[in-house]
Amino acid sequence: MFNKFEPMKDRNLAREMTALASKAGIEDPDIFEVNASKQSKKLNAYYTGMFGTRRIVLYDNIIEAFSAEELKFVVGHEIGHYKMWHIWKGLIIAVVFVLAATFLMSRFLPRLILLGSRRFGFSRLGDIGSLPLIMLFAVVFTFITQPIPNAVSRYYEYNSDEYGFELSGVTIEDAARTFDKLSVYNLSDPDPPAIIEFWFYDHPALSKRVENIKRLYSQNGSGS
Ligand SMILES: [Zn+2]
Repeated sequence: MFNKFEPMKDRNLAREMTALASKAGIEDPDIFEVNASKQSKKLNAYYTGMFGTRRIVLYDNIIEAFSAEELKFVVGHEIGHYKMWHIWKGLIIAVVFVLAATFLMSRFLPRLILLGSRRFGFSRLGDIGSLPLIMLFAVVFTFITQPIPNAVSRYYEYNSDEYGFELSGVTIEDAARTFDKLSVYNLSDPDPPAIIEFWFYDHPALSKRVENIKRLYSQNGSGS
């Protein structure tokens, strides 16, 4: 809403992105450059292929900071999310969790309310007074269960890294440098404590993503 989407200024880079998309079976995507550097130093790039749009978007700060090879790896990763239906699968998982939470709430909260009805001053879940309890339940439920969707999300990230690496055909060094730059510019800890990663991270630690690529591809050198 607040950013200007413009055609990519670097025509060579735009051509490389079109070629990359075409290799993934995406013909003729719109390629945009977004002027975001005035608001944030964070790097961003994405691909959307929902509802008939095919659009590759790169923020100007990532174009500035990354080489063409590094950008191909990043965009290849984003295309991987799309090709492997990660967004839809994530939505389905979210719906399942909401249904599970609502089910547990309907089982558990009415009993709790009856037990404490004298203190609470109401006795039914349907009473508007139960809203804070419902919200508390949702917060606790989300906190306890979040390692599950986070683990799924990290698994998707590894898959997309591999997809992007193979699609872009960059070298392992290019991929490693891309992760390095992402961690510096986005101020993320490349190597967080394991429990923190397990509980809170929906992306794997960048050091592990580098290791994953090295482990899978170090024999043949590059993705193509
Ligand atoms: Zn990703």
